[in-house]
Amino acid sequence: MSIDKKDVALYLDPLYFEDKGVKEKFHQWYGASKIVQIRAITILTAFLYIIYAQIDNAAAPSAVKSVMTILHLYVLPCSLFLIAGLTFFGGLYRPMIFLLSMAPVGAAVASIFIITRLDDFTIYLPELYLIIIWVFAISGLRLMYAAVSASVVIFIVLASSNAFAFPVNFLFMHFLWLVSAFSFGVLSAFVIEKSNKLNFLNERNLESLATTDKLTGLNNRMKIENDVDEEVERAMRYNRGLSVIVLDVDDFKQVNDEYGHHVGDVVLRELAAVVQAGIRKVDSVGRWGGEEFIIVLSETSLNEAKQVAEQIRVKIENYEFTVVKHKTSSFGVAEYIQGDNSQSIINRADKALYKAKELGRNQTQSL
Ligand code: GH3
Ligand code: MG
Ligand code: MG
Repeated sequence: MSIDKKDVALYLDPLYFEDKGVKEKFHQWYGASKIVQIRAITILTAFLYIIYAQIDNAAAPSAVKSVMTILHLYVLPCSLFLIAGLTFFGGLYRPMIFLLSMAPVGAAVASIFIITRLDDFTIYLPELYLIIIWVFAISGLRLMYAAVSASVVIFIVLASSNAFAFPVNFLFMHFLWLVSAFSFGVLSAFVIEKSNKLNFLNERNLESLATTDKLTGLNNRMKIENDVDEEVERAMRYNRGLSVIVLDVDDFKQVNDEYGHHVGDVVLRELAAVVQAGIRKVDSVGRWGGEEFIIVLSETSLNEAKQVAEQIRVKIENYEFTVVKHKTSSFGVAEYIQGDNSQSIINRADKALYKAKELGRNQTQSL
């Protein structure tokens, strides 16, 4: 059995075939989802260094005690608290990530500085291996940043190895633990990154399933209600215009009666595409139920909304539907007025639609 290259690419990176916009969204989603972890981890690590400093105080040889205290009690905890502080400011995300990537390098340099000044340093070595694991698996850094940070740490450790007074077999073990820490670290960061990407994709799929109307692909009633709620809130708060159009297909029951339900479905799908093509990107359109649709036009006056409704009405009137050929729709338009909520504005548009039906269909009315 041959291995499909596509499967390999997807195994390594579930976002491999996604476009740039999706990758950018993942980046943002990742940043937002890791901020609390980074805050917690840096605070915890700062406290561990403070405990480390207390042990230094009790047990470290006097030759390095004051240096150790400066590093473990002040420099490292302060840097880590600074990173934790930066997590509270969204605008400082990049500098925070930069410092988070640099902190392990600082910790490694401090550790090497101490190790090279001690005769009995073995108990201090695991800190170096732990730093590498910390970068990959604990820090919350993405695989790429973690790899860069850990590589710099490894480079500095290796470059300073001849300053360690290690016997040869000891040196080999030291390299073995470094390689182990790095490879286990890469592996765990890879697994974490992959599961984050899958979580992100699952979340997106679930959200899309929960907000999309299956037949037409437009927003469903729940989503459109939500959109109207948000727009009403915005119109109220920022004094911006808002209009709502309700659209209902004329004599739709006839289609089902004459051609069957399936042809009715085709009409709904084609009509949805015509409506979608007739609105701006910032507007939202959804299926309210049956053969009724709602269009939400932000920052739009009643007159402008009436024009939009008329344009769409004419487009539908002139569209040649599969099988049924010609079909018309009626439109009700309402504008946000002070004191409106989502229900009251939709009710007014609905009443206007009723008027359009009463006056003979295939027309736009407003209230
Ligand atoms: P009017 O001009 O007054 O709106 O007349 P109408 O026949 O369009 O209105 P009515 O509300 O009497 O009928 C709507 C029909 O839409 C009834 C229902 O069977 C049909 N319908 C609702 N949902 C669907 C659907 O998902 N697919 C199909 N094929 N038909 C649907
Ligand atoms: Mg109808
Ligand atoms: Mg209807």
